Amino acid sequence: MSKANLWPPREEIAWYPRINQDLCIKCGSCVEFCMHGVYSRQGDKVVVSKPYECIVGCEACRHRCPAGAISFPTREELRQMLKALREKYGTGNSSNKQ
Ligand code: SF4
Ligand code: SF4
Repeated sequence: MSKANLWPPREEIAWYPRINQDLCIKCGSCVEFCMHGVYSRQGDKVVVSKPYECIVGCEACRHRCPAGAISFPTREELRQMLKALREKYGTGNSSNKQ
């Protein structure tokens, strides 16, 4: 199997959670749940401090939030994002006309 890197740089993929601070009850479930350290406490707030540590396509923590405060892009938005980046970087399955 090819070892070619089919993924664009992680920082260019805008996939990460967002917290609606108006809804967040600061329970800390997301901080404890995410093993990648995406969330942290800052003062009296819970924030997304390492967004690019989030695994592309994962939404597991969203279901752990008792307040419905966590959101992600839609699957269609993710699909479009990755399509545009694959075209930009010339990776993926589209035919290579040279
Ligand atoms: S979606 Fe997954 S990787 Fe991303 S912050 Fe939530 S639990 Fe962590
Ligand atoms: S799980 Fe939801 S309510 Fe709890 S701290 Fe995280 S975002 Fe806020």
